[in-house]
Amino acid sequence: MLRENLEAVEANIQAACERAGRDRSEVTLIAVSKTKPVETLQEAYDLGVRIFGENKAQELAGKYEVLPDDIHWHMIGHMQRNKVKYIVDKVDLIHSVDSVRLAETIEKEAEKRNVTVNILIEVNVAKEESKYGLMPEEVIDFVDKLADFPHLRVKGLMTIAPFVDDPEENRPIFAHLRKLSVDIAKKNVDNMSMGILSMGMTNDYQVAIEEGATMVRVGTGIFGARDYTQQV
Ligand SMILES: *Cc1c(COP(=O)(O)O)cnc(C)c1O
Repeated sequence: MLRENLEAVEANIQAACERAGRDRSEVTLIAVSKTKPVETLQEAYDLGVRIFGENKAQELAGKYEVLPDDIHWHMIGHMQRNKVKYIVDKVDLIHSVDSVRLAETIEKEAEKRNVTVNILIEVNVAKEESKYGLMPEEVIDFVDKLADFPHLRVKGLMTIAPFVDDPEENRPIFAHLRKLSVDIAKKNVDNMSMGILSMGMTNDYQVAIEEGATMVRVGTGIFGARDYTQQV
């Protein structure tokens, strides 16, 4: 099943790139493996997957310890500050930075370990009350503040779009995030690039790619439904 799912997702990514006149190499697939056991991740690894996304720090750190070294780990979930220490030297990218206090903690832990941490700024484009992330109008000030943190590198923006029946409903949200990233890129802030747009999940990654996503985060579409009752 995993092989078929991966092939189907890959075909969908290619088709979306074609529709948008984009090169397949512009889009990175992150296999969202949260709640899945290491055996399942190993199976995906054996099928060629090298980029995994997790949303809990300790779960990521635990899987990091036992799985092969050439995996690239992405932290995609909301972070509590006291958990930053578990992952700061293990991840390629933290997708979900949305407060100065969190950025300060990442800076401090990164400095201790003498590493530089790549981050994305999470934006609540849809302004859903239940969601984390900055309001779009807050992002420019936030980027300026992050310029003071020498161990952080802002690489772009991330959003979690609402869960909708018709993915077309999220098209304006993805377009909005892209426009925001273009506006911010023009400011040329130190230590900052806007090269990454992390947007699109199982339900809507094809629309997100059409609207400029450079990273899509796909869980269910690869691994099947998650069973939260089995979580330890
Ligand atoms: C769980 C999760 C995903 C993947 O969701 P699916 O709908 O299973 O593809 C993507 N992004 C974030 C931030 C998540 O927490």
